[in-house]
Amino acid sequence: MNHSHSTEFGEILALFEDYIDGGYRRTRPERTAPAAGSGSSQPATADSRRPSAVSTVSTAAVSPAVSAPPAAPAAELSSEQRAAELRALEERVRSCALCALHQGRTNAVPGVGVLDPLVMVIGEGPGADEDAQGEPFVGAAGRYLDKWLEAINLSRTENVYITNIVKCRPPNNRDPLPAESAACTPYLARQIELVRPQAILSVGRVAGTLLLDSDLGIGKLRGRTWSYRGIPLVPTYHPSGVLRNDAWRRPVWEDLKRLRGLLDERLSRPGV
Ligand code: SF4
Repeated sequence: MNHSHSTEFGEILALFEDYIDGGYRRTRPERTAPAAGSGSSQPATADSRRPSAVSTVSTAAVSPAVSAPPAAPAAELSSEQRAAELRALEERVRSCALCALHQGRTNAVPGVGVLDPLVMVIGEGPGADEDAQGEPFVGAAGRYLDKWLEAINLSRTENVYITNIVKCRPPNNRDPLPAESAACTPYLARQIELVRPQAILSVGRVAGTLLLDSDLGIGKLRGRTWSYRGIPLVPTYHPSGVLRNDAWRRPVWEDLKRLRGLLDERLSRPGV
C-alpha cells in the first residue's frame, strides 16, 4: 500500500484501525496535570486576541539554557558544528541531574533523528519503554507514530527528529511538574535551534500547551497552524491517547494532512 500524503481518508483510518485492532492499545493512564510554561504568548496576527490563528511563543516559555554557558547563535554555526553541539547536548542530558526526575530514570532520552529535518516531533516525556531503551517513542505509541509519519511520507530515520518536553520519565507516567518542565525545556529550546526543523508536530496536551504557552486544551489547540519562533507548529493528540480513543483518529488525520500541506508549500518555495 502506498501511504503517500494523498492517501485516501478511509485508507488511513483503516491503517489506524489495523494498528488498534493489532493489539497496540496502550494501557498508559490518562494524564491530568495542568498546562505548563511560564512565558506569555505574543499573537502574530494584527489583533492580539487569544486564541489566534497563528501565535508565537515568548522566549520565556522555553528560555535559554539554565546550566550551559551562553551558546553561539545557531544561525552562525555550520552543519558540522550544529551536529557536534547536538551530540554534546545529548551527552549532557544523559548525565543531567537538574531536576528530581533523574532519580528514577534508567536512561535519559535526549532525542533521535536527523539534522535539518522536515518535522520535529515533540511529545511530553519518556514512558517505560523509552526509559528502558533511551530512545523516544519506541513503545506502542511510537510504532503508531511511525505509521502516522509514514502516511505523510515522513520517516524518523530520514527526515524527522523526535524528542520530548522532559527527557527523563516522570514516575507512573504522570505529567511533568512545572519545575521539571522549566528545568528541562532549555535543552529543548537549544535542540530546536540546532536541529532547524521546517515544522514542528507537537503531540499531546502537555507539549502543545507548553510550547504555545496556552491554557487551551488540545482539542482547541489542534486544527490550526501556530508558530514557534517562526517555525510552523501543528498540535495534535498524543498517539497513546488516540490508541485509547477511536474518535481522535479522524482529527489526527486532518492534522497530519495540514502538516504535509504546509511542508509541501514550504518546499515549493525557491531556495528551500
Ligand atoms: S528531566 Fe531534564 S532537567 Fe530533569 S534530570 Fe532529566 S534531563 Fe535533567
